[in-house]
Amino acid sequence: MTRASFNRRAVLQAGAALSAAAALARPAIAQSAGRVVVIGGGFAGATCARELKRGGFDVTLVEPSAIYTACPFSNGVLAGLRPLSRQQFTYDALKTDGLAVVAQRATKIDGQQKRVSLSDGTILGYDRLVLAPGIDLRFDALPGYSEDVAQIMPHAWKAGEQTSLLRSQIEAMPDGGTVIISVPANPYRCPPGPYERASLIAYYLRTQKPRAKLIVLDAKDTFSKQGLFQAAWKALYPNLEWVSMSSGGKVIEVDVGQRVLVTEFGRHKADVANVIPPQRAGEIAALAGATDRSGWCPIDPVTFESRQQAGIHIIGDACIAGGMPKSAFAANAQAKVCAAAIASLLGGQAPQTPKLINTCYSLVAPDYGITVAGVYRPVNGVLTDVEGAGGVSPADSSPSFRSLEASHADAWFRTITDEVFG
Ligand SMILES: Cc1cc2nc3c(=O)[nH]c(=O)nc-3n(C[C@H](O)[C@H](O)[C@H](O)COP(=O)(O)OP(=O)(O)OC[C@H]3O[C@@H](n4cnc5c(N)ncnc54)[C@H](O)[C@@H]3O)c2cc1C
Repeated sequence: MTRASFNRRAVLQAGAALSAAAALARPAIAQSAGRVVVIGGGFAGATCARELKRGGFDVTLVEPSAIYTACPFSNGVLAGLRPLSRQQFTYDALKTDGLAVVAQRATKIDGQQKRVSLSDGTILGYDRLVLAPGIDLRFDALPGYSEDVAQIMPHAWKAGEQTSLLRSQIEAMPDGGTVIISVPANPYRCPPGPYERASLIAYYLRTQKPRAKLIVLDAKDTFSKQGLFQAAWKALYPNLEWVSMSSGGKVIEVDVGQRVLVTEFGRHKADVANVIPPQRAGEIAALAGATDRSGWCPIDPVTFESRQQAGIHIIGDACIAGGMPKSAFAANAQAKVCAAAIASLLGGQAPQTPKLINTCYSLVAPDYGITVAGVYRPVNGVLTDVEGAGGVSPADSSPSFRSLEASHADAWFRTITDEVFG
């Protein structure tokens, strides 16, 4: 697929197709009265629960946290560009809409009996179950790293306390210090996220600690929007160094006592170490028997139903969605398709074949945005890029174009969080 520039017409056509699929499924929703339990109140789960509730279903959303802290734009918090509070949302609007939100953790799933156990001992029955637990960090995958070590070398890959911790470390670091970001191999949550993070931390260092250095140690040789990021770094951030896997960037161990990241090629001493470890689907997906050996959940791309557990659907970061990246935009799109499919299935109708869109905005600087977009449809059981649709921001854009993309990014965040939580 050519990603030289956007094909906005194809993206819009796909958007129309998705809306049409959702609209066609609505009558089926209204006629049905199935019980649906949704586990996880993030971009995927909260969207799906709201869609189904609006369609007249008996929906229960299970989410242990009273406040959801969004990851998109949390890199701006690290750079001191926005407070963490702008990332935080309650479930009050969902409750006002009549949605049952249960503040518990799901601890066990019995797919045969169609029952979910919660941490307070409650058991919920369902006709269809939606799992949207996001990611868990694989603390066992990197020697020397653990949940305890994350208090010294934060991952900040689930936004919240970890974001504040990393921010305070960067702020406290003396000018002339070194920040190191360790990036895992694919797949992981938000493919361009580490590079946006590097850019915004580099922006902070350039403006507040100009003698400081930033090194990105990468377990890959290529990454999302690479040409655009690297061109921007060359122009804006001479103190930012990216080390590819072939050049010795893959971190194989951490030495927390020495504050050192160890690669096959040597040892890197950090003043601040941001270790993003490998990841897998949130634990409840494995407990449901919905993960495969990769640690992620294979799904049918038309319904998002598990390939391993009938009656259980998996959406968002936890699922294997073919060419779709693990993003909030993708999670939101998958949630709508899944809700429409569940409505059809409970109404005794065949689900519509969907087309889905994803767009990922990244900020390289506060007024410098770049974008990647894609359109996906099921082909031979796998969500596959629609040829000729989507693309990345043009390479040689004017400062005003970059600034416009940055403001689009901000508008996107306000729009999606308003839709999901507002
Ligand atoms: C630094 C960073 C920047 C990012 N930037 C962007 C961006 O610009 N654009 C974009 O589109 N995406 C971005 N993302 C990715 C985005 O955050 C994720 O793709 C998105 O959050 C996935 O949504 P989700 O609903 O699948 O999972 P989550 O948002 O993680 O939600 C999962 C929810 O499930 C709950 N849960 C887990 N287990 C249980 C259980 N057993 N019982 C009940 N509840 C449970 C959790 O408490 C959580 O609230 C970024 C990510 C990072 C880390």
